Amino acid sequence: MSAAVGTLRGAPARFTGGLTELAPDTYAWLQPNGDWSESNCGLVAGADEAALIDTAWDLRLTQRMLAAVARQVDAPIRTVIATHADGDHVHGLQLLLGAEFVCSDHAAEELAHENPASLRRAQLGVRLLSRFGVGPPRRFGAYLHRMLSPFDFTGIDIRTPDLTFTGRLEMDVGGRELRLHRLGPAHTAGDTIVHVPDVATVFAGDLLFVGVTPNGWSGPISSWQAALHVIAGLEPEVIVPGHGPVSGLGELAQLDRYWSWLTARATRLLTQGRTVDETAAEIVLSDEFALEPWGRWDSPERTVGNVVLIDRARRGVPTPISHRERPALMWKVARLKATLDAAARP
Ligand SMILES: [Zn+2]
Repeated sequence: MSAAVGTLRGAPARFTGGLTELAPDTYAWLQPNGDWSESNCGLVAGADEAALIDTAWDLRLTQRMLAAVARQVDAPIRTVIATHADGDHVHGLQLLLGAEFVCSDHAAEELAHENPASLRRAQLGVRLLSRFGVGPPRRFGAYLHRMLSPFDFTGIDIRTPDLTFTGRLEMDVGGRELRLHRLGPAHTAGDTIVHVPDVATVFAGDLLFVGVTPNGWSGPISSWQAALHVIAGLEPEVIVPGHGPVSGLGELAQLDRYWSWLTARATRLLTQGRTVDETAAEIVLSDEFALEPWGRWDSPERTVGNVVLIDRARRGVPTPISHRERPALMWKVARLKATLDAAARP
């Protein structure tokens, strides 16, 4: 028996974590609750080899996942697929040097921007800010300190892929067919799903968040919704999100509705002259938001990044939120979190 896998920041787990058998020789590794960097992985085993889908954000958490896999699956991991280039899905790749690393060509380009050393420096900086800062800088520091504190970014090397593809790639893993489709740009440019047709399962990466507000770095949202429609068209019985519990077409459709709902409301407020920050705050504090299913999702403060993408598309400049822009965005996210906390106090 493996030890229970709880959440990384002490919140009560809303679903069972750890290695979960979805179908014969087909597994998800679930990291409750799917909030910031609580990311899932997948494993598909064939006759004499297995493929891993994604890793955790650091080596220790990836080792824990690999140990659980080794107890359950005899076939060696000969392939590792990254659904996209975000660190919380690729930082453990160096533990699988014997396995061929596969990702989309867009994800390969984005990998070049991953910088674990800068995360180590940020970890120290935000810890100091959270202790010794004053006012908004302290609030920003505390938010990021909480986000980064479960992870150890020492010793991480970003791997270069052994094989990249454009559009689609079909692979044979010990007699199991895996179909990779690049469906970005959406969460990132390189977003890829892994469809395993013999068990009607899709590993969706961060095209699907369940129980937690999605965040997008790339967009546009219309492209994200198109990706969701492609997944639905595959008629999967099981969909493993990048963050959240094992799901299906219902959760996929709910995310599609969320994007339509948010796009309509944000566009209306932005057109009336509200700023991005005002728009996001007005939406997440509204009674109608609270009545929707997404009113109960974790981290509603991430709405502000989604409004940034909606605003850029509305103005005809649907550019991604670059790595350089991310600290400024996180400042807005931390500010919206403080606004929400203040509104929740009696
Ligand atoms: Zn992720």
